[in-house]
Amino acid sequence: MVKRTDGRESPILAESDADGHSDKPRAKYGELVILGYNGFLPQGDRGRRRSKFVLSKRLEHNGVKRSKHYIVQSPETSHAILDTSQHLISYTLSRNQAVIVEFQEDESTDMFQVGRSSESPIDFVVMDTLPGDKKDSKVMQSTISRFACRILVDRSEPRARIFAAGFDSSRNIFLGEKATKWQDNVEMDGVTTNGVLIMHPKGKFCGGNAKCGLWRETSLGGDVFSLRESRSAQQKGQPIKEESNVLQDGTLIDLCGATLLWRSAEGLLNSPTKRDLEKLVDEINAGRPQCPVGLNTLVIPRKAATLSEQVDQPYVYLNCGHTFIGIRSLDCKEDKKRQNYVSLPGHHDWGQDKASGARRCPMCLELGPVVTLCMGIEPAFYVDSGPPTYAFNPCGHMATEKTVKYWANVDIPHGTNGFQAVCPFCATPLNGVPGYVRLIFQDNLD
Ligand SMILES: [Zn+2]
Ligand SMILES: [Zn+2]
Repeated sequence: MVKRTDGRESPILAESDADGHSDKPRAKYGELVILGYNGFLPQGDRGRRRSKFVLSKRLEHNGVKRSKHYIVQSPETSHAILDTSQHLISYTLSRNQAVIVEFQEDESTDMFQVGRSSESPIDFVVMDTLPGDKKDSKVMQSTISRFACRILVDRSEPRARIFAAGFDSSRNIFLGEKATKWQDNVEMDGVTTNGVLIMHPKGKFCGGNAKCGLWRETSLGGDVFSLRESRSAQQKGQPIKEESNVLQDGTLIDLCGATLLWRSAEGLLNSPTKRDLEKLVDEINAGRPQCPVGLNTLVIPRKAATLSEQVDQPYVYLNCGHTFIGIRSLDCKEDKKRQNYVSLPGHHDWGQDKASGARRCPMCLELGPVVTLCMGIEPAFYVDSGPPTYAFNPCGHMATEKTVKYWANVDIPHGTNGFQAVCPFCATPLNGVPGYVRLIFQDNLD
């Protein structure tokens, strides 16, 4: 039975080992976390569809490595392709000629595959990520490959390498006639249509001093190239020999439609846990004084509410960072109980500028947009631990200063050749410069 979870568990951990000991903790290699989700998918995590995937040591190795290659004249009747137990890549040269690269078992590695397909060879099913709360969003046309990429992890040391394209249910990868491919000395290699892009941060992700590195592309063979002129251009980029496809803590993987963050098991030890973050929220909530009318305390939600929901939530003026609690609905004057709040700072006619919809902050009188605050609760996106004193502009997701500043400086691919900084908790493109705001909590509302 598929169990709904909040994303902390992974189905792979439910396997039982050969001795019949189930749920025995196994060595964790790391986590792949989709950018744009705050701890779980909006519809709930289910089986292989979830907001993050934990890679743990397999009970039995399932990695493969390149063995021999040869040219076949009629690929569709080739013995190797018809043999569904044989892992291979078929590089189509012309309608009746292909280079077959066979793979053999590799006892030293575990393989994990990522893609849009729900077929069994895909361990982590990833769909296109839309910015915002994703409540009624539908992706019309996906750009993510059904078998997008594979990751091979050494079983003896935690070293993970990424390769473009994944094996399908027949254990084949087909690179079509039009796909970009080449022969490098003796080996065939190629890239997929939309490519698999990687970005290794410069410096250590944990600590918050890392800078955004250059985006590169990895090939089916795992070599590293500069970006093509546009995402699916025919001409491959320049080989970058001094860089590798080995994932480091904080490496981003872009599948053209969704971006994944790799967190190594070692790196995660230095990150806050979900429990740590929940405790922080509780501490802040406990430390806030009540408002003068005594009916309300500042309660930072762990889940986002939409602006139309009439609940008491903290909100922030994005231009100045002043925070308030209260009712965001202008209709609140009709609500007797809530009428009290109308006299509070921030609620007197809400200081709204009729033309622009912007509101005037009652503390500093600056005019600007207002948004509800919401805790960034996905621990993997944090570069350090500490109080969530900053928020992303325009979505209002709160995190530590270093975390917010790190992500505001990371370029995420979007479209065919553009980049933009986004909030990692909801994928909303950041607004303006710097794209975040320092929160000024009000200890006293009078
Ligand atoms: Zn203000
Ligand atoms: Zn956000």
